[in-house]
Amino acid sequence: MIVSIASGKGGTGKTTVAASLTRVWEKPLIAVDLDVEEPNLHLFLRPNIEESMTASLEVPVVDESKCTLCGACSELCQFKAINVMGTLLLTFPEMCHGCGGCIALCPEKALSPGKRELGEISRGRVNESQFLMGRLRVGEAMSPPFMRQVKSRLRDIIAANGRDAIIDTPPGVSCPAVNAVIDSDVIVLVTEPTPFGLHDFKLACEAFSPLGKPMGAVVNRAGIGNSEVYRFCEEKEIPLLAEIPFERKIAEAYARGLVIADLSTHLREIFISMHAKICELAVRPGLGEAAHA
Ligand code: SF4
Ligand code: SF4
Repeated sequence: MIVSIASGKGGTGKTTVAASLTRVWEKPLIAVDLDVEEPNLHLFLRPNIEESMTASLEVPVVDESKCTLCGACSELCQFKAINVMGTLLLTFPEMCHGCGGCIALCPEKALSPGKRELGEISRGRVNESQFLMGRLRVGEAMSPPFMRQVKSRLRDIIAANGRDAIIDTPPGVSCPAVNAVIDSDVIVLVTEPTPFGLHDFKLACEAFSPLGKPMGAVVNRAGIGNSEVYRFCEEKEIPLLAEIPFERKIAEAYARGLVIADLSTHLREIFISMHAKICELAVRPGLGEAAHA
């Protein structure tokens, strides 16, 4: 089972939930940080990193002595990453999506594969569990091609070990967030009971519902704000998986990089119960499927 921990906006406590759930999961699993622009799950889980590798994308490199400026490559490229400009062939590696089309198409074999570094993928261990993290290169604009490589690594680990995975996903509802949750069996949406929290929670539900995955909600900082988020969950039949109380000791623990499930028996029980509810949710139809039934 792959469980994605997502949220409509940053700062809702998504990583706190991912770290605590990892702590109480019954069997050894794979904890994955796919929030590649700002990975911080490692700050809580403190894995022993065993291996790191650079991930890159194949981009075209021109041999000017062979290029006849026929323009076939620029006509093909939908991203304007290669262009004939007068007597020059210009490439824009930062805009290239690495499809390899231009390299295969060039009649003069004037293009060969070069590399654009995307980021670093690290693998390690947290006790019996495995840990996987992607960190996007500073200045790299496109995270989905990099995330695909991290996910490919995850698939290899799952195939070799048959373990469950908990993924800390990028916040929001943009392309990287959807890309991160798309292979999950269950999506856990973390929100807070405030007007801002509800607004972004609604956006996340709208963005992820068409994927047809079972979804559940976690209300963090319960006790502040109002009850609108609960009403919305009821109306949309989104099960409430847990409420995490708004307490000073939790905020302090977060600031010190502690896993909150370790703070007290009560908090640990909240996450144990969340684990059980996620397992139940995994065998239910997704929201999209239910809506179409
Ligand atoms: S397709 Fe090949 S020969 Fe034609 S412009 Fe592109 S690189 Fe040059
Ligand atoms: S590899 Fe694909 S995206 Fe990149 S320049 Fe060539 S055609 Fe464009």
